[in-house]
Amino acid sequence: MLNVVIFGPPGSGKGTQSENLIKEFNLTHISTGDLLRKEITGNTELGFLAKKYIDKGALVPDDIIIGMIDNYLEKIGNVPGVIFDGFPRTVEQAKSLKEMLATYKTDVSIMVNLEVPKEELVQRLLKRGETSGRSDDNLETIEKRISVYEEQTAPVKDFYAKEGKLASIKGVGTINGIFAEISKAITAVK
Ligand code: AMP
Repeated sequence: MLNVVIFGPPGSGKGTQSENLIKEFNLTHISTGDLLRKEITGNTELGFLAKKYIDKGALVPDDIIIGMIDNYLEKIGNVPGVIFDGFPRTVEQAKSLKEMLATYKTDVSIMVNLEVPKEELVQRLLKRGETSGRSDDNLETIEKRISVYEEQTAPVKDFYAKEGKLASIKGVGTINGIFAEISKAITAVK
């Protein structure tokens, strides 16, 4: 299997680039943020719980997220590969992902880390907030999400660097230009 972790701070283009990568490499897309928002609109108990964290810009607890991924992997069956978008966001989640994938005799193939300066992230997310309808795309929550990323999520890069799987790519420029760089990195590990 080709398993890609698309990584980077909020607003770095993970969702946008995932859309292209799914088509190019025939991957199944798992976005924990999208899954959580679906739970919220479905008025489920999990959605109710998750909303409290999301609206504050905080991370949803690891056990909830890991359980969600576990269920999802069980459901998707035999696929050529998966793109994980917005997951793992803590080292604990990265360790669990390794264990879960091991039960399917597979592992993460590459982590694509999109690098974008903070000022650009804030501008992009504020712009997205004009149309996204997302409760967390406002200045206060954006700032919080970026600092949560720096403190709790950025260390996940070291986890994959130690495994020799980290590919850092400049996430500024045209969508197609960035996509070409990502494709090159993925093709090299295919
Ligand atoms: P995203 O759509 O990836 O920007 O995620 C939106 C929000 O959902 C985040 O700010 C977190 O509150 C929550 N979330 C999404 N994925 C995760 C994860 N892997 N671990 C913890 N919280 C998450």
